[in-house]
Amino acid sequence: MLKSPKHVHKFRQSFLNDMWKCPEYGRRKHAGLIDEQNNSDFVRGNSVHNSIEAFGLEWLHEDTQMPLATVLELGQRCFDEESADPATKWRNKPEVVLEQVNQRLTVWYEKVLPLLQRPSSVEEKFKILAYEDDVRQIFMTGTADWIEGEAGDPHARIIDWKNPSAKPRDEWMYRRSNLQSIVYTWATGIDRFMLCHLTNGDEPHWIEMGRNAREHQALIDMVVGLAVTLEANLPALPQQWDSWFCAEQWCPAWSDCRGKYITEDIKDLGQPILTISEKEEVSI
Ligand code: SF4
Repeated sequence: MLKSPKHVHKFRQSFLNDMWKCPEYGRRKHAGLIDEQNNSDFVRGNSVHNSIEAFGLEWLHEDTQMPLATVLELGQRCFDEESADPATKWRNKPEVVLEQVNQRLTVWYEKVLPLLQRPSSVEEKFKILAYEDDVRQIFMTGTADWIEGEAGDPHARIIDWKNPSAKPRDEWMYRRSNLQSIVYTWATGIDRFMLCHLTNGDEPHWIEMGRNAREHQALIDMVVGLAVTLEANLPALPQQWDSWFCAEQWCPAWSDCRGKYITEDIKDLGQPILTISEKEEVSI
């Protein structure tokens, strides 16, 4: 009789990103210890994303393209749904966020859509066994926003919609280490992965990344290491402070982690912890 493995892991691509941003944050989220509050960035991103998804599904299944006016109506409806939670944390006023949704959908329609092919899949989920031995099975899961063509077709590509405030500053970092592109090219067998950033500007911003079998081998090696770490069931993992994410406005674990110590009253203690200044000359 076959023995079932002791550990069965299901890693979403976004979980790998969480571990990358901060292992301790990833651990807490994986263990269900974090209550993530809705915020205006999610409202904006989900409204744009869901409207493009609806457009893509209709194009895929009916071979028709809905007009821009319908896409903007969809954006409004998604915005209403996404912002219905009264606990939503607004980083911008709701009317500004709605305006950003309209502006991004218009840019998408006018400047991105003319560059697209009819998709072969939209928001298709995958769950694939990535690794197995006597001790563990590791499945990887995810959802690709938009795929054109099939594996083996040199023009096939995967496209992912992003909604940041501004275009990324360090493109080379994306090309070097973007995890999503490695996971999705591995899962689909399609080598080309493109990020389309819809920002507050009038032009979309694209980054294309080609991935290959060597990077996929490295990915499997990385997830096995992650599985081994989680199997140890450690009560804490390294805290990644050296990141934009480790701050009150971004990390939902902040107040229960580093933020327990870095509180407002620290400014009253007279310690120079929060002040940094460059000095040309220093006197004793
Ligand atoms: S507060 Fe910083 S160290 Fe703590 S979980 Fe968040 S990112 Fe990690």
